[in-house]
Order: sequence, then structure tokens, then C-alpha cells
Amino acid sequence: MCLCCSIIHYKELVKPTKMQLSSFLDRFNEPETLKMAKLGRELRAKGIDVIDLSLGEPDFDTPAHIKEAAVKAIHDNWSHYTPVPGFPDLREAICSKFKRDNNLDYKPENIVVSTGAKQSLANTVLALVDEGDEVIIPTPFWVTYSELVKIARGKVVEIKTTAEQGFKISAGQLEAAITPKTKMFLFSSPCNPSGAVYSKEELEALAAVFIKHTGIFIIADEIYEYINYVGHPASADSRRPEPMASDEATAGKHQSIAQFAEIKDRVIVVNGLSKGFAMTGWRLGYIAANTEIAKACEKVQGQFTSGANSITQKAAVTALTTDLRPSMDMVKEFTRRRARVLELVKEIPGMHCSEPDGAFYVFPDVSAYYGRSDGETTVTNAADFSMYLLNKAHVTSVMGDAFGEPKCVRFSFANSMGKIEEGFSRIKDALAKLK
Ligand code: PLP
Repeated sequence: MCLCCSIIHYKELVKPTKMQLSSFLDRFNEPETLKMAKLGRELRAKGIDVIDLSLGEPDFDTPAHIKEAAVKAIHDNWSHYTPVPGFPDLREAICSKFKRDNNLDYKPENIVVSTGAKQSLANTVLALVDEGDEVIIPTPFWVTYSELVKIARGKVVEIKTTAEQGFKISAGQLEAAITPKTKMFLFSSPCNPSGAVYSKEELEALAAVFIKHTGIFIIADEIYEYINYVGHPASADSRRPEPMASDEATAGKHQSIAQFAEIKDRVIVVNGLSKGFAMTGWRLGYIAANTEIAKACEKVQGQFTSGANSITQKAAVTALTTDLRPSMDMVKEFTRRRARVLELVKEIPGMHCSEPDGAFYVFPDVSAYYGRSDGETTVTNAADFSMYLLNKAHVTSVMGDAFGEPKCVRFSFANSMGKIEEGFSRIKDALAKLK
């Protein structure tokens, strides 16, 4: 950091080390999202008022009834090691959730509970991907996907999507990307960062391709399931312990690719509590998969971390089996902010953005600013653009390169309306200086 002006230069982030660390570390990058948040905190520690539009977590508190369940679990002395795949009552609760929200039938032996969906993804990639295996990932994608594949020594095969196609791939694109080495397809819907949400028909078209290619596993990351502006979970209205008729459960709602029976055995659904219940720090994710894959993930996790936190697991039973209204209230607020953010983006010349159907991000194309300068700093790419906004507007964002889309930058609207408005006002002023 430049001491006279508090400006952080991007090159300072990667410092050479003299220690003989393992070559494993060279295979993957640190998450860009966390790096940006760290830089924001550094400036804030120097007394600078930084507005955080980089982070991927709800700015709400965990609902009270979930916190009470955790307090009770502490008093009830749930303080011992937990079974590696999760407490039996939680695995039952997850199966009920799948039936209630997605009309999917799973048994506890299909479920593995982990310390966050990130660990669920890591377990699954490590359990399935061998050196040289190809993993197809549509762009833009969540930063961690490609890095996990690299950790497993797999090969990332990107399918490029554009804003014009709603950042969603077609069946034709999928078919064209498949080779004899394809082992896995990895995607999120709703998508971080684009907010794209696949409809039942779109998933059906992809499933038809996978029916033809029987050796491909599909990881469906559904962590943003509840944060969906075009459908809503089947159980949103009230407590719904009883299963619903299949039409009621799936029509116009979040759609899972696991609903297609011919491929269900090869689909690994990843979900968790971080986003839908504002529980990022509690660290709880889970998978539903066929028992062989579930057992393999349990084996991986058994050596890395063992079972997830006992108190969190008990609170998760409450979260998954009781009233979803607090989550839906949060989504209502995200809906309001989404509308406002889209207005604010439109007011900035040269910034183009498609409407996110889910999650809490906008992912505008900012490439119109590449090559421009304020006389002091020249912006040549998304990294420069994000650093320019951090240093000149004191607003954090995440460069699109991290998500495989170098023309875009991600702004989160998981911040108060006041901060969002102030943030975009600063962004507009700073960008107006780029000529
Ligand atoms: N999947 C996606 C698409 C995410 O955006 C995130 C978090 O940002 C995760 C998974 C990880 O979630 P967790 O907090 O449960 O590890």
C-alpha cells in the first residue's frame, strides 16, 4: 500500500515468498471475492469509509428461532464429535426438505452434511475427478469451481455464455463441449455471479444430452435456491411438513436438474444454509447423491474435517423443518434492492446489465471503460476497474475474470439500500472522470 495516498496496487497482493512451500499451492488461486473483501477491510482500518459491494452474504441476522435452537443445543450438551456424514435427524430433515421444496425422494444414506457448501463441492470434485478428466463449467461461474478442478488435477472446459443468451448454455453448446474425457458438468442455478436461473424446459434440454452421455456426473449447486425472483420455493407460504403433489411442488418454482429420473443417479445436488437462512458463519452445506458417491464424499471428509459443527447441525434441523417466512422476507427486501440497483446501473453511461433472476448480484459489462484514464490511473481490464473503484470511490466489487468473464464486474446488493445508493453514486462520479 502506498503510505502517502492509501492506494493499494494490485501487484502488491501477490508477494513472492522465500519459503519452500509445496507445488500444490501453485495449482490454484486464492478466491478473488475474499481478496477484495480483505482489501476493503485494510482501507477501513485506516479510517476510510469503504462501501462493500463485493461480498456474497446476506446482510441480515439469522432468524431468531434458529438461533434459539442453537442455544438449546449448547445447553443440551451437543458438544461431542458428530458422525462424519451428519446427525441422523439432520439427514432426515434434509430429505424432508428435498421432498417439500423439490419433490425429490432421497434417503438419509444419500445425504452428506459438510462444513459449508464449499466443502460439499470440494468433497464431490475430489471424489469424482481424476488427473486429466475434463470438467465442463459454463461461464460465468463461481470462483471456486475452476480452482477445485485444478486441485483435483482435472481440466476445466469452459462454455462461454453471453448476456444476450441470459448467461445460460444451450443443449447444442453442451453437446459440442463433450469429449470422451468429459467426467463432470458443474453449474449453479440460480447462478453466482450472473443471477441466471434455468427453467424446467432448459434443464430438460440439458438432461436430454446427459441421457446420451452416461459417463458424465452433474453437480447442481443450488445454494441460492430461495433467492429466486422468478419462482419461489414450494414451501414459502407456511409450514408445510407434508409432501405435495408433484405438479404443485414443481410448477413455476425453483427447478432442480435432479428431477429427471434418467439422470438422477448421476446428479449431485449441493445446497446449504448460508444464503437462504443468512447463516454464512455457521458453516453448513450438504449434498444429495447416490449412495456410492455419498460414501465416497464421506471418506474424503473423514480425513479432512470429520463431521460438521454439532450446534450448527442442531440449528439446521430447525431451519429446514420450520417456517420459511423469515427467509422469504429477506427475499422480498432483495427484490426491492434488485429493482433499485438496476435503475442505478442504467444511470451510469457505458454500463450494461441483464436482470438477475436469482441470487443477489448484478454483473454488468463494464468493458466500455477499458482503455480510459482519469489522468492518473488507466483502466485496461476488469481488475483495474475494480481497483480503480476501490481506490477512487472506496467501493469494493469483484472483477469478472475471477468468474471467467473479463468484460464484467460483480456488484452485490446484499447491503442496505442506503449503502447501495451511496455506493453507486460514488461509482458514477468516479467513472465520470475516466476519459
Ligand atoms: N456455491 C456458490 C455459488 C456460492 O456463491 C457460495 C458462496 O458464496 C458457495 C457455494 C459456498 O457456500 P457456503 O458458505 O455454504 O460454503
